[in-house]
Amino acid sequence: MTDPVLAPARIIGLSRQGRPIALHELSFPAARPATIRLLVFGGIHGDEPSSVEAVDELATRLTAGAGSGGRLWLLPALNPDGLAAGRKNSASDVDLNRNFPARSFVPNVDRSHAPGYDPGPRPLSEPETAALARFLEEERVEAVVAIHAPFACVNYDGPAAAWAEAVSTACGWPVRPQIGYPTPGSLGSWLGIDRGIPILTLELPGGPLASYRAAAASALDRAVDYWSGRSSGRGPDRSSGRSSE
Ligand SMILES: [Zn+2]
Repeated sequence: MTDPVLAPARIIGLSRQGRPIALHELSFPAARPATIRLLVFGGIHGDEPSSVEAVDELATRLTAGAGSGGRLWLLPALNPDGLAAGRKNSASDVDLNRNFPARSFVPNVDRSHAPGYDPGPRPLSEPETAALARFLEEERVEAVVAIHAPFACVNYDGPAAAWAEAVSTACGWPVRPQIGYPTPGSLGSWLGIDRGIPILTLELPGGPLASYRAAAASALDRAVDYWSGRSSGRGPDRSSGRSSE
């Protein structure tokens, strides 16, 4: 069964166990022009399946458009091995959101990291993070939404304060510029703090998506729509947040 509104899924890499990491490529509808190159992804932690479902449902709400310069990629599941096993980490037992080449990365040379937070031996040592980093570079992605659970808040890094406020207003979950614990090697640290790329970490509540489906849809629809019509002169704000999951 194929969904006619979606471009064919593109595979950007394979997981440690050989599962495809696939995304949908869309253009912003011509009626909502945007020039942003935006990635929305979920499922980096395998015990957060609601994030996968939220991206899948976003994909079904969006129709492919033509004629605008903006690009939108929807990647439901960055960690398909963890999702298949129902556990947070990758098949290598690495926390993929500690494996990015942020200045804050600390290799796990002495196995001293807290259980469950192994960052891996070096940045991008894992096929999943390497595939994402390669994609971000090749496509010159300019903004990212990373979906997690279960803290029910909108966290951000880089110049994304106004974007986070807009999403928070839409869904009712508060903006939390700091998640409350250090996150060395996270995607937010790398893209937002080191490189100044706006990134939202949307934390869904706990439990099944069905119990907060409307709020999640409002959050993600607003996260995408925020960039519509902002194609000339009005870039993202410049104040920075710190530290996402
Ligand atoms: Zn997570």
